[in-house]
Amino acid sequence: MGPMVWYHPVKTLFQCVDGPHGLVSACPGQYGGPMGGPQPGYPGAFPGGAAQMAGPPQKKLDPDSIPSTTQVIEDDQTKRGGQVYTTNLRGQVPPLVTTDFVVQDQGNASPRFMRCTTYSFPCTSDLAKQCQVPLATIIKPLATIPKNEAPLYVVNHGEAGPLRCNRCKAYMCPYMQFIDGGRRYQCGFCNCVNEVPVFYFQHLDHMGRRVDVYERPELSLGSYEYAATLDYCRNNKPPSPPAFIFMIDVSYANIKSGLVKMLCEELKTLLDRLPRRGKNPWKLRRVRDGHEQCCCQSNELSESAGPLLSLPHCERGTTGPGEEGAESSGVRVGFVTYNKILHFYNVKGGLAQPQMMVVSDVAEMFVPLLDGFLVNFQESRSVINNLLDQIPDMFADTNESETVFAPVIQAGMEALKAAECSGKLFLFHSSLPTAEAPGKLRNRDDKKLINTDKEKTLFQPQRLYEQLSKECVASGCCVDLFLFPSQYVDMATMGEVPLRTGGSVYKYCNFQVEVDGDHFLCDLRKDVEKPIGFDAIMRVRTSTGFRATDFFGAVYMNNTTDVEMAAIDCHKAVTVEFKHDDTLSEETGALIQCALLYTTISGQRRLRIHNLALNCSSQLADLYKSCETDALVNFFAKSAYRAMVNQPLKTVREILVNQTAHMLACYRKNCASPSAVSQLILPDAMKVFPVYMNSLLKSAALVGSVELSTDERALHRQTVTGMGVEESQALFYPRLIPLHNMEVDGEAIPTPLRCSEERLSEGGLFLLENGRQLFLWLGQACPPDLIQNIFNVPSFAHVSCEGNSLPKLDNPHSKKLWSIVSHITGQRPHSMKLLVVKQKDRSELPFRQHLVEDKGVHGGASYMDFLCYVHREIRQLLT
Ligand SMILES: [Zn+2]
Repeated sequence: MGPMVWYHPVKTLFQCVDGPHGLVSACPGQYGGPMGGPQPGYPGAFPGGAAQMAGPPQKKLDPDSIPSTTQVIEDDQTKRGGQVYTTNLRGQVPPLVTTDFVVQDQGNASPRFMRCTTYSFPCTSDLAKQCQVPLATIIKPLATIPKNEAPLYVVNHGEAGPLRCNRCKAYMCPYMQFIDGGRRYQCGFCNCVNEVPVFYFQHLDHMGRRVDVYERPELSLGSYEYAATLDYCRNNKPPSPPAFIFMIDVSYANIKSGLVKMLCEELKTLLDRLPRRGKNPWKLRRVRDGHEQCCCQSNELSESAGPLLSLPHCERGTTGPGEEGAESSGVRVGFVTYNKILHFYNVKGGLAQPQMMVVSDVAEMFVPLLDGFLVNFQESRSVINNLLDQIPDMFADTNESETVFAPVIQAGMEALKAAECSGKLFLFHSSLPTAEAPGKLRNRDDKKLINTDKEKTLFQPQRLYEQLSKECVASGCCVDLFLFPSQYVDMATMGEVPLRTGGSVYKYCNFQVEVDGDHFLCDLRKDVEKPIGFDAIMRVRTSTGFRATDFFGAVYMNNTTDVEMAAIDCHKAVTVEFKHDDTLSEETGALIQCALLYTTISGQRRLRIHNLALNCSSQLADLYKSCETDALVNFFAKSAYRAMVNQPLKTVREILVNQTAHMLACYRKNCASPSAVSQLILPDAMKVFPVYMNSLLKSAALVGSVELSTDERALHRQTVTGMGVEESQALFYPRLIPLHNMEVDGEAIPTPLRCSEERLSEGGLFLLENGRQLFLWLGQACPPDLIQNIFNVPSFAHVSCEGNSLPKLDNPHSKKLWSIVSHITGQRPHSMKLLVVKQKDRSELPFRQHLVEDKGVHGGASYMDFLCYVHREIRQLLT
């Protein structure tokens, strides 16, 4: 496929950047203020645009003529969907994240673990600077592997431990070259020649390959695990299984809303579903060449493609951080309740009653009991259930409305430290912690700062919390925060510890049990059950000529190379940027090895290794050909969201726009065939890059609107920081699914439409989802029988947008809708509450924010306007 060429006359281009009423202006003036007028703080607000080019209303451009994300997604699904993607080739660009495909590891890590902004690095730093395309990989080291793909093998060399290069410490992998009859090997990363240990010696075949190459995952696969030896453990001691501590705010707000009662009731069943230690699900099955082999049961793929791995030296399928199959969980649990003071509970098995210990001096936090605080649920079931029954009653008459926060985290961390284990704190918290205590917060939400150079301060956490995060990471303490606020809570600060410790934040504003209860419980269940590793350190090694220079993610950096994480779950991703320090060779390419050292849920120390080989080229055309727009957007979002706490937001937005124009101008100048300047020429692999960048510019975090809540903006920023590519893709280009003419039989989800008002229809019903929110939009002229089938009311006027207004009905339309909803929420890390939105109703506003091709509800250009603006910038760069 050639480059995307989008042509129209120069004159029209000028017209389309013109004035307040953009050409695809969404429903002009309907909401007054936010819709019309130049958008404050928008990148240069199209410098000089409106004034300079005012004129009569212009004829509309055809929105179908500009590159369509939904089309790109559909085309990739058609071309590569349902196929097996084998990772045997260096520099191969994988299918899009939105495409359904099956991965077969043949020497490079699956794109589920690593995705790159480009699969062909420029050979020199001059070329890299010239094009300004970021060289980065987004690593999701514990990504979930679908059932139809092979689980990872665990390699165990016993006391010898993992094999590593003496000089650069890279782990044994397919890029090590065995020489000298198999007695030595040359490291693919640093070229150092190492001796092969006696236990590992093997002869080479006539091709110079070890004859056991397909029996050893570390020689033939992109991803595998090593069992770690004591050298890799804290204090050289095998780790204890991690612990979960449930810390419940029992102040007035949480009691009154019914949250505490609901939560305690839920925990009684949820604790039975804690992640379990694995019985090995693999079976030793066959014998070949005199060796016993293990293979994954019923895995058709390993039969069909490539040489069958026969592995006498390793185990397969026990690697899941969420190991399943055992009767009981090794995870210990503990309980704390708090408001201004903390209550710890002794729930040791055999006690007739739980015992409460009160700590009222929150300035000097200590843990009042060690024995009986962290227990095995099965052994203490009756005491714990007794406690969970009592908690709602104990505080039923409370009128305490003040809370502490930092001391709660401190207490949880101290408890884990005392028990010498890593673990996770689950905090269920209601309000701004204003009680007198370390980490006390005040309302500092100041809308006057928006669109000034001080706006960034709204997103800077308070100091004490940065220090607290550091201590938590050092002791392997991850913090998950479930927030139930009714007003401002300084999200920027309260979310800091979860952000830095690999935790998650869930926020339920004005929580009501009847309306939000299911949503909350669903999130809690997903969170407790998700695969997770603790006390982790990640290191990214590269072959000579380039190195990892920057890391973006929910991580903590103690030095420039080690990425420390109190915990990392199957959804969290770290984005790593690379820079040249020498020339790269086209012949050897660029090699990346990511090693994650972590503790599994059952307390085993493991190393997970992911290897990926990229091409290198002295032709920029190769780089552009191998770009991945979704990965680029993930990189730009994370880097912009990090920059916005240190720089004025206006500067951050300008940098994004300038870099977009620069990257495209460089392509035009160096790679495209000569053409008229009035043509906008986009690299095929980046043809929808501008729509994503514009969506990022308009995102809640960056847009700078007084109408958006500061807490929402801060939360959005923090959430994206830990995201992988699937999630950021959906967030910046939501799925808009038409439901009014769907086939009610079968499983298929209707093909999504472009996210624009133009695609909605009065007679229609649409679902919009971005991984965090889910809307059902109902057009005014939707047929009554469809309304009846979906909402169980006779007409549009009867449909309510309040609460949980969408019933589950026994008819094909309702069933199909709910099956689509459950399919979508099943794919996403968070549960989503479905909001019903009616056309031309006030409820429409939050929905319209996600129609990312239109002019932003809270500011920001339409896709068309942005594209025209970028085109003009490109032309300026080229002259
Ligand atoms: Zn080396």
